[in-house]
Amino acid sequence: MEKIKMQNPIVEMDGDEMTRVIWKDIKSELLEPYIDLNIDYYDLSMENRNDTDDKVTLESAKAVEKHKVGVKCATITANEDRVEEFNLKKIYPSPNATIRAYLDGVMFREPIVFDCLNILVPTWKAPIAIARHSFGDIYVSKSFDVKEGDELKVTINGEEKYSYAPDYHAIFLTQYNKIESIKYFAHECFKHALEKKMDLVFSTKDTVVPGYDSVFKDIFNEAYEDYKGDFEKAGIRYDYYLIDNAIAKIMRSEGNILWALKNYDGDVMSDMISTVFGSLSLMESSIIGKDTYLYEAAHGTVTAHYRRYQKGEITSTNSVALIFTWASGLEKRGELDGNKNLNEFGIKLKKAVKDTIEAGFITGDLISTYNKKDYVKVNYLEFIQKVKEFLEKSL
Ligand code: NAP
Ligand code: MG
Repeated sequence: MEKIKMQNPIVEMDGDEMTRVIWKDIKSELLEPYIDLNIDYYDLSMENRNDTDDKVTLESAKAVEKHKVGVKCATITANEDRVEEFNLKKIYPSPNATIRAYLDGVMFREPIVFDCLNILVPTWKAPIAIARHSFGDIYVSKSFDVKEGDELKVTINGEEKYSYAPDYHAIFLTQYNKIESIKYFAHECFKHALEKKMDLVFSTKDTVVPGYDSVFKDIFNEAYEDYKGDFEKAGIRYDYYLIDNAIAKIMRSEGNILWALKNYDGDVMSDMISTVFGSLSLMESSIIGKDTYLYEAAHGTVTAHYRRYQKGEITSTNSVALIFTWASGLEKRGELDGNKNLNEFGIKLKKAVKDTIEAGFITGDLISTYNKKDYVKVNYLEFIQKVKEFLEKSL
């Protein structure tokens, strides 16, 4: 078979620990034999971020802005322990936060669903994806310690709008969001729901925070006017619910819902959703900007497995989300470039992963939810080889 050509590059952000090990094997076993990879490579390993004073992280985000499509391996977020372990010059910010802030995108998280894996909520038959507004609210908040007898004032251009003078010791919080950012978020959610043919639900607590959350609600309702016709044509719905009601409705649904959430709600609910669908290793994550597409796995660098790998063990680490990261990147690159072969390769690679798992070749993390009788527990290398076998049958 002749290798598939690529017109434009894909930005590759390499990462750390166990995911870096598996990432390399995915490339050499599942991609390089079939594709003339055109890559703009950035090494986001902890060592290289330290060597470059973290400049490489911003450079990689700029490269995604330039080339439009990127794939990211999981990376260590530095903390005190990592400073010691890697002899870091300082505690660097999370690469994901740096990249997300630069691309100003919406974060979508979607589980990869298999018939042979039980879902903890039995009524959920299809994915429930999360769209998290990854800007503002409590993530940019400031806390103020207000003592008994203190007076705290909120003024705009010197004009007093609010004052607070408690006769008790209190803690006070301010937060904000950008109207443009909320609008952008709303439109991306409608577009994404249409692309995925999923119902869209948006929820806030506007009854309790009318001046703040109702701004979000109104922006979504206004944006819906632009998509109403297309939603009807696609046979999908848009609904706004109070967040409590949304939870009750979603728990009883069959799935196939894109659930749009404010920053904090999305942060919390995405962990709930990924747990219900079985494993963090079956969760895709993407950051979609104005015209940029960055794909990654939702899980981290799987440090616990890496420690065992360092001692010589071939671990049974699940590579599904990492393979899907590459597959989605290539699929999108193919779509944007009108490169049908590349686009189809991405789809076939995902299908090969599904075939492998449905055939019973699974990593250790999936054993407890696997609902067929016969399975073989494989290590990460054996899993990739099985995927390769199924992939070759489809090429
Ligand atoms: P983690 O890497 O997601 O792993 C936590 C545990 O979840 C693992 O020990 C393992 O459980 C299970 N797990 C996760 N992914 C798995 C996979 N692919 N296959 C099998 N099991 C999997 O989270 P962490 O250990 O808290 O974080 C490790 C490092 O990753 C940290 O430095 C953190 O900063 C970073 N991180 C990066 C990202 C990102 O780049 N997007 C996201 C989160 C965390 P068992 O040990 O029980 O098998
Ligand atoms: Mg979270």
